[in-house]
Amino acid sequence: MNQSIKILYVESNEQDARNFQRELGKTSLKAVFFTVRSSSEASLMSDNQSFDIVFLDYHLPGENGLALLKVLRNKVVPVPVVVVTNYADPKIAVQMMQAGASDYIPKSLLNAVGLEQCVRNSLRYSELEQVRDQVELSLKSAEEKLSTIVSNTPVILFSVNPKGEFTFAKGRNLGVFMPEGADLVGESVFDVFDGYDEFIHQMKIALTGNEVTQSLKFGDMVYQISCTPRFNKRGRLEEIVGIAYDVTKRAEAEESLMKAKLLAEQTSKAKQDFIANMSHEIRTPMNAIVGFANLLQDTKLSDVQKDYLQTIQLSGDNLLNLINDILDFSKIEAGKLIIEKEPFVLGETLLSLERVLKGKSDEKKVKLNLQVDADVPSQLIGDANRLYQVLMNLVSNAIKFTDKGSVTVRVQKVSEQENKVKLKFTVTDTGIGIPADKFDAIFDGFSQVSSGTTRKYGGTGLGLAIVRRLIHLQKGTIKVTSELRKGSTFEFELKYALGVEKEVALPAAIISNIDAKIFAGKKILLAEDNRMNQKLIQNLLAPLSVQLTLVDNGQAAVDIMENSDFDLLLLDIQMPILDGFEVATHIRKEVNGINAEMPILAMTAHAFKEEKEACYKAGMNAHISKPIQKQELLKVMQDLLNLSNSSEADVLDLSYLKSLSEGNDAFVREMLTIFSEDIPQLMAQLKVSMDAEDLKRVGQLAHKYRSPLSLLKLTRLEEIMKTMEHKVGEKVQLEEMKKLFEQACSLTSMALESVQREIENH
Ligand code: ADP
Repeated sequence: MNQSIKILYVESNEQDARNFQRELGKTSLKAVFFTVRSSSEASLMSDNQSFDIVFLDYHLPGENGLALLKVLRNKVVPVPVVVVTNYADPKIAVQMMQAGASDYIPKSLLNAVGLEQCVRNSLRYSELEQVRDQVELSLKSAEEKLSTIVSNTPVILFSVNPKGEFTFAKGRNLGVFMPEGADLVGESVFDVFDGYDEFIHQMKIALTGNEVTQSLKFGDMVYQISCTPRFNKRGRLEEIVGIAYDVTKRAEAEESLMKAKLLAEQTSKAKQDFIANMSHEIRTPMNAIVGFANLLQDTKLSDVQKDYLQTIQLSGDNLLNLINDILDFSKIEAGKLIIEKEPFVLGETLLSLERVLKGKSDEKKVKLNLQVDADVPSQLIGDANRLYQVLMNLVSNAIKFTDKGSVTVRVQKVSEQENKVKLKFTVTDTGIGIPADKFDAIFDGFSQVSSGTTRKYGGTGLGLAIVRRLIHLQKGTIKVTSELRKGSTFEFELKYALGVEKEVALPAAIISNIDAKIFAGKKILLAEDNRMNQKLIQNLLAPLSVQLTLVDNGQAAVDIMENSDFDLLLLDIQMPILDGFEVATHIRKEVNGINAEMPILAMTAHAFKEEKEACYKAGMNAHISKPIQKQELLKVMQDLLNLSNSSEADVLDLSYLKSLSEGNDAFVREMLTIFSEDIPQLMAQLKVSMDAEDLKRVGQLAHKYRSPLSLLKLTRLEEIMKTMEHKVGEKVQLEEMKKLFEQACSLTSMALESVQREIENH
């Protein structure tokens, strides 16, 4: 203590004051001493200067020191006040200490020792007081800061004691739960939130010591509330601390997102339904137009009529193409088109393309070339139909826009690795060409090079848009190069997985040459509501001498089957009362006896994959889409009825065997001899198993028979063996198998005759 201490003594008795000063002088304190006689003088003096310590006589004349004590203690920097009493009166001491005195001392102790001690204590007390004030101040400011943050963020913080009473609650929006300005502290959660059952439930769980978080609705607002129990050292629940976030906006956003998603799904579904329905509505009359025009062709017509008919057929075909294009385009746009991954033979795809387009190119005297490089693998896995569609578009355009010269389709291998091959397809023509500034535009929907194009060549401008989208869907690329009046080249690349050998498809010759007689006497039920379609199918089937029964709704089909048996049901899908799916399901589930196993052939207006799958799921056996092509219908009917062309024998084809022999005729003869010896034995075994009705064995033998048949390319017979082999796995009627066996017998004997002739010639 180097600085001198300023001491004021408030004392009315002069003697006492002098006494005090004298004793002070005896201490080691460095002090400046002032004295006044009354409290009014004291407060005046303390206004003008500050003191380090004030001694206050309690018994001032006409007043006690209490008032002055309060004045001194309320100063900005409170002065330590020591109360001086005449004698030790504990009551006064307590009263004065409560009023803020730092110490008290009876006059009897005001000697040098007592005084020094008292001054030192009071100064120390004052210092501590100042530190305490500072701590309190910073605590208060921290609390204020926290409170400002809490009050301005969309959060409510609270704590609740084990009795369920709030011990703390602060936050914006708290007013929602209580009157403005009211305090939740001390209130019971169960009273304040009476009626908010979910929150009460959550609190109850938390009060049992569990942490809970959940989103709850409070009127229009949504809060995410987390309650965490806090335990004391002995593991007793001390309190629940909780935080509640206002997540109303987020919840609203989530809800509107859900609504939007639902709406989008509904819209997209509605769009797909619309497409499906539209396709049905437009295609049904179109089918009738095209179908009847085809029938008309077979009648006697004058030249003029033939000419008109041709126009009708051409326009009908165009319109059907257009409808298909629009459907495809909308399907792609709606993201509904799925790219298949099925094994296929590239050569078959290209050949059927050539078959279909050859007529057109011959007509225009434009040469159509197909070049496949030797290293291009033929067995691929991918979407053959989409490849066909792309090539079909490009090649028909090429033919359409070429008046002389040629159109060449070339397939090259770009690369091959890890079971994958990248192929480049090029379609080159020597036609009118495309201006360079239109290279991009022609791939947009509904766009053509010029309006003159439409007038001269027709078309909608959709073809290339579909082509590009289909290629992109298959992760490929397409580009065009062209020179006006010289020709154009469209080039695209696609990747395929390498496939394994595909099962032999039925040769085209068999499809196109079905003998109508084989259907004679078959009982066929046709369920179809559209009168034009009824008539069309009646006419298609008329030359077959079948017994056709017609019903025009699903219920009638079900009813009639109760009493009569049929060999085949031709079933339209969209029909009144019961639709095709319901009819098929009914037959497969509820009909016992005669018609339970009857083959069902579905006829649908659209060829969507989903619909085909639904047909099979409902128990139908095959599917054919309208417009119904006569040959396709007959082929499927032949398959479903297990009929073989009586007049048709397999033609022995030794090319494969010869290619294996590498010119060794003896090898060929030997193989043929083995065949002629083994096969009769095999057929005998088959007969034994057939008679014993041992179908499992029949299947095994049929399988055994297949490989020598494929060697000699006896495809028809091989087909029958394959059917027999696979039929075993299904629930088959023995009758069906017997029919197949009979056919196999007659075909085998014809084949054996041919083989015998070959042996003799070699
Ligand atoms: P569309 O042939 O139905 O009009 P596309 O989308 O197939 O529709 O073709 C768009 C346009 O691109 C055609 O109208 C034509 O102007 C041009 N185009 C397409 N291919 C060829 C081609 N090989 N030669 C010349 N122009 C073509």
